[in-house]
Order: sequence, then C-alpha cells, then structure tokens
Amino acid sequence: MRVIQAFKVPCHLCVVRLLPKKRESRGRRKGSKGSVETVQCDQCGRLIPEDKAVCVTKWYSPVDPQLAAELEKKGSIIAKYPVTRCYCVSCAVFMGIVKVRPEEDRKKKEILK
Ligand SMILES: [Zn+2]
Repeated sequence: MRVIQAFKVPCHLCVVRLLPKKRESRGRRKGSKGSVETVQCDQCGRLIPEDKAVCVTKWYSPVDPQLAAELEKKGSIIAKYPVTRCYCVSCAVFMGIVKVRPEEDRKKKEILK
C-alpha cells in the first residue's frame, strides 16, 4: 500500500495577501460600487470620497456650558443641535478619532479561500 501525503499548497484559487494593510476594506465602505460623490474635509479642505470620510456627530449648544448647567438646574430647557463634521483619514488620525493598526497586525499574511 502506498501512502500519499497531501500538502496544502496555495493554488491559483487561493489568494495570498503579502502586502501590509493599514485599514480594513482599504479604509472605505464602498463595496463593489463604482464611484461615489466627494465631500470636503472640515479640517484641511481636501476632497475625499463620501464613503472614505470619517464623520463624527457632536451635540452643540450655543449657550456656555457652565451657564447651561446652572439654567438646567433652575428648570429651563436648553436647545442642543447635532453638528456632523467629516474629516479625511489623515486628519482623523491626527485628531485621534481613528487609529492606525499596529505594524505587526498589518504585516500578517493571510490565505483566503
Ligand atoms: Zn483633512
């Protein structure tokens, strides 16, 4: 009887990822869509694709926060407005909204089937 050993060799159907990858899905959420509209970064003004922009919504109140706290104690209602700001990836990294993944994680080789 002959024993044939089968080795797992990456074939043409397997994709071997060798290059480092900074962000998941190339930092985008576009999928298989062709192209998307562009938006301007609120920090530096760079034009970036809509799906690549990092958007953050913060609640903004025109009243000074100390004064607002005092007025709220007395029972008044102070309006707050949502303000959405969109940043490019480099500005988002600079401001600490998103982080660059560790270098070791980025260089992991993966075999996808
Ligand atoms: Zn920017």
